[in-house]
Amino acid sequence: MEYQAMPLSQETGAPPYNFPSSLLSQNLSQLPDKAFLEKYGYFSERGSKAAASTQFSNAIREFQWVSQLPVSGVLDQATLHQMTRPRCGVADTDSHAAWAERISALFAGHRAKMRRKKRFAKPGNKWYKQHLSYRLVNWPERLPEPAVRGAVRAAFQLWSNVSALEFWEAPATGPADIRLTFFQGDHNDGLANAFDGPGGALAHAFLPRRGEAHFDRDERWTLSRRRGRNLFVVLAHEIGHTLGLAHSPAPRALMAPYYKKLGRDALLSWDDVLAVQNLYGEPPARS
Ligand SMILES: [Zn+2]
Ligand SMILES: [Zn+2]
Repeated sequence: MEYQAMPLSQETGAPPYNFPSSLLSQNLSQLPDKAFLEKYGYFSERGSKAAASTQFSNAIREFQWVSQLPVSGVLDQATLHQMTRPRCGVADTDSHAAWAERISALFAGHRAKMRRKKRFAKPGNKWYKQHLSYRLVNWPERLPEPAVRGAVRAAFQLWSNVSALEFWEAPATGPADIRLTFFQGDHNDGLANAFDGPGGALAHAFLPRRGEAHFDRDERWTLSRRRGRNLFVVLAHEIGHTLGLAHSPAPRALMAPYYKKLGRDALLSWDDVLAVQNLYGEPPARS
């Protein structure tokens, strides 16, 4: 099904609030874009039908803002295309609010930051220790184990380089704080979290202190810059979630929800560094 982009209203410059009539006459829950917005935390059907269409439009605005698209509230081609791009399976809930909080703390300085922390701090979404163990439970068949282990070590190191955290690989039999596992399809995380084959959701992870990151075994994982999905980039992103980071709307952030290729730029943006340091502080001075 395709929707046409709707022009802005001539008089007000605001996007028209009406949906294409074909959309209004259908059960919204049948639409793939509505399921997408629900899965990623932009929309949940509550209240009257009339309220639902306003909520739907607001959900599209919020999705466009987080995705760095022009904010129109209209389900245009660019917005629909964005929904098909490979991404992380974690919802974007709170990413706008958490980002706004980081920015205002940055500009308001340290004292305001401490005040804010008292008001907004959500206890529980961080680790209360700085030395964390991890285990790679399994890995993609096509990739050699030592190379995957190296990528995992480097991905954890990205975060320890810019924070007070330290990571070590747990022995194969003992307990580990963070476990990285490749799964296929439904893997007892609820149907919304079932993996969807190549493309779509590539991986997901849980906030502290569950310590789980799951990767879709059906992706064409590689450690190359050119072909397939670069596992190192996705590992680094999911590890960010296991440390307590939400998605970032900042351009070029590693914690942005969409998959990005491994480029020549630094993988962590200023916003990623700020987010992890807000939780765990800066790295200790090393001589
Ligand atoms: Zn994510
Ligand atoms: Zn899972």
